[in-house]
Amino acid sequence: MPLAETHAIEQEPSATVRGMVVPGGFAVSESLLSSLPNLEVISVFGVGYDGVPIALCQQRGIRVTNTPDVLTEDVADIATALVLMTSRRLAEAEKFIRAGSWTSGAFPLAHALRGKTAGIVGLGRIGKAIAYRLTAHGLTIAYFGRQQQVVAYDYCDSLCGLAKKADFLIVACPGGSGTKHLINAKVLSALGSDGILINIARGSVVDEVALIAALKTGEIRGAGLDVFENEPQVPVELIDSEKVVILPHVGSATHETRQAMAQLVRDNLAAHFANQPLVTPVC
Ligand code: NAP
Repeated sequence: MPLAETHAIEQEPSATVRGMVVPGGFAVSESLLSSLPNLEVISVFGVGYDGVPIALCQQRGIRVTNTPDVLTEDVADIATALVLMTSRRLAEAEKFIRAGSWTSGAFPLAHALRGKTAGIVGLGRIGKAIAYRLTAHGLTIAYFGRQQQVVAYDYCDSLCGLAKKADFLIVACPGGSGTKHLINAKVLSALGSDGILINIARGSVVDEVALIAALKTGEIRGAGLDVFENEPQVPVELIDSEKVVILPHVGSATHETRQAMAQLVRDNLAAHFANQPLVTPVC
């Protein structure tokens, strides 16, 4: 049943608001929270809740929910697509034929996937789904995270160590202050001139200035990006670079997944207001 049939929906902050829905990554400021004195629950439309001040919510007894799992496969598909697009130069190949260049000669050779190594930064739900897909493409998987897991993939306890090993460094960890600019000039230098950076996590995890410099100097070969530091603004250097494949944050952007996310948002709110356990609680 649509929430609007059982609850009043407000578009602006007010003292009567008891539940709030925000997009994943939306910055919930302290001042917004202070304008909502009776807020009981925040339902994040997304798995990443890096925009929500969790400690403050806990202090105020505000519950937080998100939408894990239902978007995992779609986001992993986009990461895999970016690996294919960057290594096989698919966006460039498409431009080539549309520009009428094929009649003047063949498109240059690209790089195969088989036998290469994917280094996954953050082997969580999405990271594991990416590993599963890339294994089928013949890649070896290694990963970095804050702790080693019981999985069949190689664990690297240093991010530079993982970058050195990897042909594709794939970022799939959460955003927020704990991972800000985790991918910096040092990590990109370790990735090396044959390496490709893929980011489907959050723009904040990658130091975009360092990335642009590494692409310009050839310190890395390319990048595939679904997320950016200052969305929807994308630096002109990335837009203009043939070494980069860029997507407008479409990781979970399918009818099926967005519907499942919306249902989970509604189910969490309904559970809260019925005094039932939250379906997917963050805190
Ligand atoms: P998850 O299951 O919680 O996985 C996150 C992984 O990151 C965990 O394995 C965690 O492992 C690791 N991690 C946490 N902090 C880390 C750090 N400082 N350094 C390295 N690894 C770290 O989350 P998920 O469902 O896979 O989602 C991951 C992220 O994807 C979300 O937070 C969201 O920002 C992003 N996302 C993007 C899109 C898109 O449209 N592009 C869509 C959905 C999600 P340890 O705890 O062992 O470190």
